[in-house]
Amino acid sequence: MIDTIYRCEICGIESDNPVRWIVIQCNDAQLTVLKWTKEAAGAPHARHYCGEAHAQVYISRWFESFCG
Ligand SMILES: [Zn+2]
Repeated sequence: MIDTIYRCEICGIESDNPVRWIVIQCNDAQLTVLKWTKEAAGAPHARHYCGEAHAQVYISRWFESFCG
């Protein structure tokens, strides 16, 4: 059994044990920030970030353009 490897969308760092990473789930009307859980990270359309700073980069982009 191979653990899932997650990749930060901003910097590209990869981890199979993403402690303190952040999950964002969003559509064009709503953005939700979640603490890392396997359930949240594995949800359809979940996005993965290595930390608060990179989650914020994505949030700023979302405000500008929404999910696309
Ligand atoms: Zn990152």
